[in-house]
Amino acid sequence: MQDCIFCKLVQGKIPCQKVYEDERVVAVRDINPQAPVHLLVLPRSHLENLLALDEAPDLGGHCLTVLGRLARQAGVAEAGFRVVVNTGAEGGQSVNHLHFHLLGGRAMGWPPG
Ligand code: AMP
Ligand code: ZN
Repeated sequence: MQDCIFCKLVQGKIPCQKVYEDERVVAVRDINPQAPVHLLVLPRSHLENLLALDEAPDLGGHCLTVLGRLARQAGVAEAGFRVVVNTGAEGGQSVNHLHFHLLGGRAMGWPPG
């Protein structure tokens, strides 16, 4: 996807703070962190959002496994953390390339806004 900011990020065309990568996913620090730990896990391939995981059934599980590893690595696994996948307009998705937010390092409120 030519105009997708996260495709550009995965391809190294825009700068980012990468914390993890493998053959399927990349993890970066969110540019506008909402918690002391705020990472994004995104597939290398362009999937619009969570609904597109239908086309890549093993990928969602892999993302979740990576999120757990990153939570441990970031030191928030024991205290607790939150994984968020904003989906579509009402879900608050602003970048239409599937990504999982990993938020931690502070107590989270509920319900989310
Ligand atoms: P969402 O609103 O769920 O689509 O989340 C998009 C997230 O991407 C927001 O938290 C942004 O701060 C973050 N973001 C946008 N551009 C970049 C970038 N170049 N590098 C890292 N994070 C970004
Ligand atoms: Zn993309």
